[in-house]
Formats: sequence, structure tokens, C-alpha cells
Amino acid sequence: MLRPLWSRVRHRIEHVVHSQTVPITQRSAELADRIALIEARLASTDERSMLTPAHSVLSEQHGRVDSSTTCSVCGGREFASRKILWQGLIDEWQLSPEEADYVDRQQGEQCVACGSNLRSIALADAICSSLGLGVTLREAAQLPKTGSLRILELNEAGTLTSTLQQFPGYVFGKYPEVDMHAMPFPDNSFDLVIHSDTLEHVPNPVHGLEECRRILKPGGALCFTVPVIVGRMTRDRSGLQRSFHGDPSTATADLVVQTEFGADAWAFVMQAGFRKVTTHAVAYPAATAFSAFKA
Ligand SMILES: [Zn+2]
Repeated sequence: MLRPLWSRVRHRIEHVVHSQTVPITQRSAELADRIALIEARLASTDERSMLTPAHSVLSEQHGRVDSSTTCSVCGGREFASRKILWQGLIDEWQLSPEEADYVDRQQGEQCVACGSNLRSIALADAICSSLGLGVTLREAAQLPKTGSLRILELNEAGTLTSTLQQFPGYVFGKYPEVDMHAMPFPDNSFDLVIHSDTLEHVPNPVHGLEECRRILKPGGALCFTVPVIVGRMTRDRSGLQRSFHGDPSTATADLVVQTEFGADAWAFVMQAGFRKVTTHAVAYPAATAFSAFKA
């Protein structure tokens, strides 16, 4: 990866040097020495050691769910996995094999007892942590002190819908009928706003998050997931080939991916006016969920 870049730079330097009208023999010799030195260093460099720290972390921590992992939805300890991604999406997303594997785990590795995938388990962890509860989401729904909470689930949040419906103050907002850019709810009306793998389909994610913040009560929490590729920065897909989550042959426009989130996904939350973002991970980097409080 480095050598082709260096090769282009070297040719450019040589071109500039050779096009000089004034003799610069001595400077050419110095440049030649430097070129030789850089090439010697490149030749002795293991290119793997030049990878970014994020990539190094990925290759080292690419394990399965360990025995200490429990499902934040039901408390289950047994997990099973299946493949979700297809080659077309992997190509459009430009995922490495390692990245494709951990996105597959995020979507396809499930608690055997309740069917929640790692993405939903990370989100349940974010919700319970935001409520200050050291219990599973199912247990939280039965606690008297959660009975007064107003909770909005925007779009079906992974496999959490049936559990979230058990909270007495539950409200469902169907996507795309409920537009995250202009939600039909008054200011300061919810204690919790929850969405999962929906923000990447919204044309202006910062505005969508601002709307979430608007409808939260002061002290209320936003809990959400987006697919995050942790070894790169966020990419806007405007102008690129249309990419869908779901079968492209039957997918509707609301499933077009507008934004591919990367390691800076948290910054979108801050831009939307939140003052603090927390990341909740399950089998990092396979599944991450975010929580943010409205001040
Ligand atoms: Zn479970």
C-alpha cells in the first residue's frame, strides 16, 4: 500500500529535478541519497506494523462471544450465529473480510433463548444502563419504577419490540411514516427515545438526532444503534451507487443507505446538541450502541 504511493512521489520528485534548467547536480545527489534511504527503510518495514491502531485491534480481538457474556434482554448465556451479509452489500460497503465478519455477528449472532442479536443486546444494555438499572430489559419492564416512563420506539428496534411493548408508557413510531426529520410529538415529551439501524437511512442524520433531542424531556435519554465500521471514518453515500439494507430487488427507497458510519459516529450526536455520549459494546467491535442524555 505504501510502496505504490512512494513510487508516485519519487517519480514526481525525479521529474521536477530533471526539468530544472539550472544545473543542480549536487541537490540531485542529495535527493538520490534520501530516496535510497527511504527505499531502504521501506524494504525493511513490515507493512503490517504500519496499519492503524484500529485495524490492529480488530485483528487481535476477533473472538467469539466469551462465556461471561449474558443477554441484556433475557439473561441467556447461549449464542448461535448465522450469515446475514451478501456479497453485493459487502462490495458496496467496501468491507474487509474481518469487517464483514463482525457485521455478520452484529446482525446474525443471537441469544438462543430470546432470539436477540448482538445489536439488540447492545441496545438493551444501553437502555438499562441509561435507566440506572442492573437488570435485564425484560426485568426492567416489570419494575414499578419504570411504569411512569414515556418511551418512544422509532421503527422496530431490532428484536426488542415485544419487550419494549411491556413498558406501560410505550409508544411506537413507524418508519418511514414517522419522519425522523419532523416527528409528530411535542417538545420534552419522552423519557427514552430508541431507534436501531435506522439513522443510516435518514438523509440528514444530525437533524434526525436533533429531533430526537427536541422530543426528549430534560434528563431523558436517546439510545440507538447504527452499523459502525470502527476502523474508518463516516462516509456520506451521496453520489455513490445506491446501496440497500435488505434485498435490493424488493427494497424500498427508505432502505437506501444514506450514511455509512465509522469511528466518528459519536460526533453526530454531539453536533445534534447532546453533551455526553456513551458507547455500549458487546463482543467489540461486533456490536455497539450509543446512549446520550438531554441536559
Ligand atoms: Zn436473550
